[in-house]
Amino acid sequence: MKYISTRGDQTERGFSEILLEGLAPDGGLYLPVHYPQVDAALLAKWRGLPYAELAYEILSLYIDDIPAADLKAIAAKTYTKATYGFDEITPLKLLEPGVALQALSNGPTLAFKDMAMQLLGNLFEYELSRRGETLNILGATSGDTGSAAEYAMRGKKGVRVFMLSPHGRMSAFQQAQMFSLQDPNIHNLTVEGVFDDCQDIVKAVSNDLAFKRQYKIGTVNSINWARLLAQVVYYFAGYFYATKSNDEKVSFTVPSGNFGNVCAGHVARMMGLPIDKLVVATNENNVLDEFFRTGNYRVRGSAETFETSSPSMDISKASNFERFIFDLLGRDGARTKALFKDEVEQRGLFTVAADEFAKVPAYGFVSGTSTHADRLATIRDTFERFGAMIDTHTADGLKVARDHLDPTVRMIVLETALPAKFEETIVEATGQKPARPFWIAGLEGLESLPKRFTVVPADAKVIKDYIVQHCND
Ligand SMILES: *Cc1c(COP(=O)(O)O)cnc(C)c1O
Repeated sequence: MKYISTRGDQTERGFSEILLEGLAPDGGLYLPVHYPQVDAALLAKWRGLPYAELAYEILSLYIDDIPAADLKAIAAKTYTKATYGFDEITPLKLLEPGVALQALSNGPTLAFKDMAMQLLGNLFEYELSRRGETLNILGATSGDTGSAAEYAMRGKKGVRVFMLSPHGRMSAFQQAQMFSLQDPNIHNLTVEGVFDDCQDIVKAVSNDLAFKRQYKIGTVNSINWARLLAQVVYYFAGYFYATKSNDEKVSFTVPSGNFGNVCAGHVARMMGLPIDKLVVATNENNVLDEFFRTGNYRVRGSAETFETSSPSMDISKASNFERFIFDLLGRDGARTKALFKDEVEQRGLFTVAADEFAKVPAYGFVSGTSTHADRLATIRDTFERFGAMIDTHTADGLKVARDHLDPTVRMIVLETALPAKFEETIVEATGQKPARPFWIAGLEGLESLPKRFTVVPADAKVIKDYIVQHCND
């Protein structure tokens, strides 16, 4: 399989070429030149496969420059019961007839980002060793992404992680998770500033092309194609777990921020997985809901971005959305570029034409918004009626899913984090503390472990110096 950019550069690149890259050189995102199609016979063959084997089958449709046996070994080593607690890896939990949660958050950092990041860690290690290269990953996090990246890259050969986070601003649990890591290839730098300062520093360092090249700076952000590809697998798994025959359809509701998770659902649907609706659920930061209701994509400034109790969805600009728009516009790279480069970057918004917007339903997308009050009510109701604790992001999903139920189609709501990660709001809603997952060692008492981090000023020069000093550790 070859990959092209969403902004018109038709150069075709192999998977291994784009694996370690973020944006395409023209500023677009990578997509496969076409979506491989699955037919009834293939679905029948895949139904019942263990998760890791299903992952291999799907990955191998998109990756032809890693030998099959190696790819199989990478998938097998990534998706294990030891890491994810359950044989099914992403088991379904039935709530009420026709509505189930799919658990994507049973990995080491209790959020769905582990599903892709764990694979990325193994792919990076493999590819870097094959090339005899090393990579210094520089990232900024306000919580989930940083911990998922560190737990995926810890101890991996050839990879170092330099993760910036705003000093003193993450939850006690998130800080404990990241800062208790003692692996020498993981560096936590807490910046005296806010998350935006961290992100500005990453941009400043990445824009210094000479420094970037000399010190082999890379990223693991959500636009990376391999992350998206890893996520396609659980849509297939969820479909097989929820149905008995390949004549059935299911719908998925996806708690959304950067459109990364639900974009993988779009890819699965384009491949021919029988998905009826893809329900995009946002919190008060409803840039995406606004688009699916009106055809206007209007990004927000930081003053207009709310801090909510589902913080991993507090985004003002959905970085993966360009991939869907490219498909919606019939893969017209020039038009996609005009919308995202000329209009969004200059005016902060675009509106698709009426005839383009009219095509959205054919892709299955619908949407809705959930609020803090909705989250509390949904968490409480789910606990009282089903004895199940759900986290705030999943609650946004479940709330919006209920507005889109169709009695003839099963609804799968993706569980994107475990409640233990967002204890405060769960206690507010239910009066009880959520349990920590029993299958992950060391979570009890996590907060009292020794912490390893370095406080730095919000100054790109200081961070560069730090990388220079530590890139041979
Ligand atoms: C990152 C995240 C999301 C949003 O996912 P996107 O791919 O950015 O849409 C939702 N829930 C949780 C818990 C997350 O960590």
